[in-house]
Amino acid sequence: MQHLYLHVPFCVRRCSYCDFSIAVRKRVPVQEYVHALLMEAAALPEGDFQTVYFGGGTPSLLPPEAIERLLRELLPRTTHDAPHTIEVTLEANPEDVTPDHAKAWRASGINRVSLGAQSFDDTVLKWMHRSHDAARIGAAVYALRRAGIDNISLDLIFALPDELQRDWERDLDMALELRPTHLSLYGLTVEPRTPLDRWISRGATRVPDDERYAEEYLTAYRRLTTEDYQFYEVSNASLPGFQSRHNSAYWSGKPYRGLGPAAHSFDGTTRRWNLRAWEAYRRAIAAGRSPVESEETLTDEERELERVYLALRTDQGLPLTAPYRPLPPLTAQGWMEVRDGRLKCTPEGWLRLDSIVNEISHDRAAH
Ligand code: SF4
Repeated sequence: MQHLYLHVPFCVRRCSYCDFSIAVRKRVPVQEYVHALLMEAAALPEGDFQTVYFGGGTPSLLPPEAIERLLRELLPRTTHDAPHTIEVTLEANPEDVTPDHAKAWRASGINRVSLGAQSFDDTVLKWMHRSHDAARIGAAVYALRRAGIDNISLDLIFALPDELQRDWERDLDMALELRPTHLSLYGLTVEPRTPLDRWISRGATRVPDDERYAEEYLTAYRRLTTEDYQFYEVSNASLPGFQSRHNSAYWSGKPYRGLGPAAHSFDGTTRRWNLRAWEAYRRAIAAGRSPVESEETLTDEERELERVYLALRTDQGLPLTAPYRPLPPLTAQGWMEVRDGRLKCTPEGWLRLDSIVNEISHDRAAH
């Protein structure tokens, strides 16, 4: 197994749009968490990982010593001898990035940080229940660079409610001024039982229509591509050579192993996922039980549909060989194109990815 994901479930509060599996804690139970993760990892087959990804939750809430210990125990000796050959990503919230933390993370092997910036507008950040202000984002980027971590990704959210009067172009400008190596752009979605869902149910806010979603996505696409960023996946753009190797492994259907509550694993045919809640996961490990909640094995047909969906999410697209072929209506509308002998979505196509995958899969089934 070459790709390892570690889920760190803790957050200091819940963001207004977030439905992830998190545990809101003022004080992170560091010892219990590290112990549980290492217990689960004991069953891991020995492997030379190419990528390690600390995702959450808020992994940057873990003290640097805990991150260092996990990496030391989980990575085989060979990896410590050649740390530059693997990609080790830490998701961090800007307020956790101090010069000391950045230095310690770098010393323990972290060489890529994904910062949850979301916006450079303080009113928007408050509305999102984020715990940082805009000034902290730039300060975090500089602290990381001074510590020797140059591979930095920024997350931004677009398509926010009208009443926030968010200036999306200004946010893009501010992000680009920092010249991160990578940007992830997500449209706001309303997930059940989130604060945002409740605000919408009582009429206190509403999300913008599809038109504005598309307009903001295409604005970002144009702006970033003129600045040398390449959209290598529907929501992810990078400078040349800085694609996320870890996430690219997911999108190309490679096997991966996940540890921690709610973590998923995939061995090439079967997907397993752990108990979502931190307490349930911790209790299962402490009692010597498996933390796996359930698993599914995809049928050949499901696997093929997933392969098509994942391929079309990326700029690799599908090889232009039978059974897939360009459908005239999709190319005429400018949603798909044939480039380098492959069938790919255009940015307009990425906006309607689900229906495109449906159409070309049905077309294949009909032949
Ligand atoms: S910090 Fe991330 S994981 Fe935690 S509540 Fe906010 S969006 Fe969710």
